[in-house]
Amino acid sequence: MKTPPRLEVSELFFSIQGESSYAGQPCVFIRLSGCNLRCRYCDAGYTYEEPGTPRDIGEILSFAGQYPGFPVEITGGEPLLQKNVYPLMEELLKAGRKVLLETNGSINLARVPAGVARIMDVKCPGSNMHEHLKKENLGLLGPGDELKFVLCSRTDYDWAAALIRKTALNKSVTIHFSPVQGELDPARLAEWLLEDRLPVRLQLQLHKIIWPGIDRGK
Ligand code: SF4
Repeated sequence: MKTPPRLEVSELFFSIQGESSYAGQPCVFIRLSGCNLRCRYCDAGYTYEEPGTPRDIGEILSFAGQYPGFPVEITGGEPLLQKNVYPLMEELLKAGRKVLLETNGSINLARVPAGVARIMDVKCPGSNMHEHLKKENLGLLGPGDELKFVLCSRTDYDWAAALIRKTALNKSVTIHFSPVQGELDPARLAEWLLEDRLPVRLQLQLHKIIWPGIDRGK
């Protein structure tokens, strides 16, 4: 008998979306295990340090089905490392769900099904992972997709601002600048954005404000 397609899952939960333009909305989260990067400030190390639980696509769909009408975010770790994430996205779309994919920018996005909102990180130098960006992904994004720059310092800010000015990415996608908690003061970042009139959104991680110190299931 053929085994149904499975994924290694770190956690499934229903919570308030803390990031992106969907921040503040209740949302279903499918957090997959494994990551190919090691960002210096990572707060989700458990997704690659601990083994995931194998779950078949039917189980995951039925979890999402308990919360009809709400968006479903597939995140990680890095969700595109698992080949069965593609049929999972297809099935969620077929079920009429709004699907958000949060990805670290290091894997080509060409196979992501149309209709999925791609929320891609651009890793800045302070992450120590900025050389892993697949630059071709920037040309694959369009309306409905979003970019997130996580910033540790003024150096990161200048790097990100220069990339946006060079590429005019703000004309095709929504861009978020998010300060690393405890490293970059959000008020500082706000001043820089206003001084430079940079067309991006300042993003604070809402779930960390609501539930400080809790990293899992939120
Ligand atoms: S990509 Fe995300 S999960 Fe992976 S190391 Fe970086 S912050 Fe952590």
